[in-house]
Amino acid sequence: MNVKAYGAHAGQAPLQPLDITRRTPGAHDVQIDIAFCGVCHSDIHQVRSEWAGTLYPCVPGHEIVGRVSAVGPGVLGFQVGDLVGVGCIVDSCKTCADCHDGLENYCDHMVGTYNGPTPDAPGHTLGGYSQKIVVHERYVLRVRHAESDLAAVAPLLCAGITTYSPLRHWKVGPGHQVGVVGIGGLGHMGIKLAKAMGARVVAFTTSESKRAAARALGADEVVVSRHVDEMAAHAQSLDFILNTVAAPHDLDPFFALLKRDGVMTLVGAPATPHPSPGVFNLITKRRSLAGSMIGGIPETQEMLDFCAQHGIVADIEMIRADQINDAYERMIRGDVKYRFVIDTRTLA
Ligand code: NAP
Ligand code: ZN
Repeated sequence: MNVKAYGAHAGQAPLQPLDITRRTPGAHDVQIDIAFCGVCHSDIHQVRSEWAGTLYPCVPGHEIVGRVSAVGPGVLGFQVGDLVGVGCIVDSCKTCADCHDGLENYCDHMVGTYNGPTPDAPGHTLGGYSQKIVVHERYVLRVRHAESDLAAVAPLLCAGITTYSPLRHWKVGPGHQVGVVGIGGLGHMGIKLAKAMGARVVAFTTSESKRAAARALGADEVVVSRHVDEMAAHAQSLDFILNTVAAPHDLDPFFALLKRDGVMTLVGAPATPHPSPGVFNLITKRRSLAGSMIGGIPETQEMLDFCAQHGIVADIEMIRADQINDAYERMIRGDVKYRFVIDTRTLA
């Protein structure tokens, strides 16, 4: 079936309207009429070919919510009319140890929602800046929030799970002091989730303009990380740091904020490496540097249910599809609080 989408033909080209094809649902497929799609910084990295291997045409978008409009005959978990979401994963091998453990995000054959291999035309997956998507039911999530929250739920499908998963893995909870670095789409979710898990949260931002705004998100303290004296006041005070920054930066000033045995987990994925860490910042206090990539399907459902239970959604600014190129420029300037969401119905 032909659907309207927004995407790019080259890394230097702006996004533009495209006509794409979606497959007819197979036995275990769910067809979704997309209502909203969040705009992740990974979309910019990928569509502009900042990471290796972008395939064109590239239709980004992996924070998808909408309503089921058709199901294959073998689908057991969903029916027409259900409110659902799709995140960063649309397929995986289903047989390896990672898939077995519900960690499809670490499967060597994970297929991304866009730019992943598929037998469907044009030979790679096309994402959520589009009117419809067809996905195997294993990778479809149930949305239990009120329908009126649907647009603000979309960013949970990537920004939510990418911050929830490491917070859970490193067992963040009451009594923990947690730093969240970079208060963008991911970072603002990190603050909300760490607070809901019971931690005390310190937000680190390069933007003076986010000082009050980050407090409003629930941060107990906000530090403008350019201010050396403010940073020094937090030396050796944090158990865990979630670093979401989308650009290379010096990690060492943040290691100095960790207690003995503290962990900093990187989720930001800049195209070029960070210039540090200095070894002595790690060995002198047995500190660790770690990484984490999105989350598996069962944990994504757990995160959505946790958010529905705690009344958590993203703070969003809604845009039309034809505003996407401006939105990218504003994201790069840090000028969004905190996630753009495309009303995909404006593609019609
Ligand atoms: P975003 O909304 O653009 O936020 C990134 C934040 O980083 C900015 O708001 C800014 O926060 C901070 N920053 C500081 N210096 C920056 C600079 N020179 N350029 C850009 N940002 C700078 O991005 P996002 O959607 O949250 O994504 C953040 C990163 O995570 C991206 O690299 C993305 O690709 C990656 N990502 C990784 C995963 C994963 O699975 N690990 C999943 C999704 C996204 P302040 O203004 O507060 O300083
Ligand atoms: Zn993302």
